[in-house]
Amino acid sequence: MTASELLRNIRTQLAPLYGDFAQPNAEAVVGTALSITRVQLYTDTSIIIGDDDLARVNAITQRHLKGEPLQYIFGMAYFYDREFFVDANVLIPRPDTETLVEAVINSEKDCPARFADIGTGSGIIAAVLAAHRPKWRAVAVDISYGALRVAKKNILSSGITNGRERMDRQDSSSPPKNIHLVCCDMLTAVRPEKQFDFIVSNPPYISSTQMKALGNSVAGYEPHTALRGGNDGLDYYRMISGCAKMYLKDGGRVYLEIGYDQGESVPGIFSDDGWAGIAVTKDLAGNNRVVTASSSQKLADFS
Ligand code: GLN
Repeated sequence: MTASELLRNIRTQLAPLYGDFAQPNAEAVVGTALSITRVQLYTDTSIIIGDDDLARVNAITQRHLKGEPLQYIFGMAYFYDREFFVDANVLIPRPDTETLVEAVINSEKDCPARFADIGTGSGIIAAVLAAHRPKWRAVAVDISYGALRVAKKNILSSGITNGRERMDRQDSSSPPKNIHLVCCDMLTAVRPEKQFDFIVSNPPYISSTQMKALGNSVAGYEPHTALRGGNDGLDYYRMISGCAKMYLKDGGRVYLEIGYDQGESVPGIFSDDGWAGIAVTKDLAGNNRVVTASSSQKLADFS
């Protein structure tokens, strides 16, 4: 069997799931499973698919048809400008979260700063920020030890170091010095001192009603602790609004991902708690996606 025959076969199997979009997904399945580039799939007539390869691609296709996300099957997801490891301990990175990363990069100065990433999960936010801004230092926390193992792997493989090349480091198994990983609930294991220039978080924000409506590929495979935001989905925003000022320098900022329908409720929580400069940024789909706020008027213009 040639690669293009296999591609046609997998496209047919995936058609009930993807309809008109079966082709790019078949390319992803076959290409990733057999380490063949998209161009090779169509042009390299010398590739012959053996029985083992066929069995492997069919098994992956069947798992995916039952709902398992391809990112978990392949242990890999794309986010921002790089590739990350993922497993069932962490949410699969969403393009929505790129809006959060962009908001921080566009608003914060490129000078030495300390930030906290609450609920770091796979570590993608801290990793991308530290990679783009080597002068920044982060404390990345998560309540899930399984998630932190994934974050550690991603931070190490991103080659993010304390300003040096990774190869220079003696011990490549310990995380680089500019991101400290801490296993705790919110910031409970971090000294409540005004030490951070800003805090970033993509907290769980799915309400109880929305949790019941999630599709199988999310509800059946992704970690619920990373999704469930309490009855109205706002529990973690209330906690962050209530405690973040203890950790932020005066005029320090928060950058929070929100659900598409939380563009009024989350700013309302921060406004009630006396935060300044509250603003909402939309994602590429035009949905409200990021709330920023400053702990005091002093630096509310993020200058
Ligand atoms: N964006 C995710 C979803 O819609 C939820 C992420 C979160 O709760 N932080 O499934």
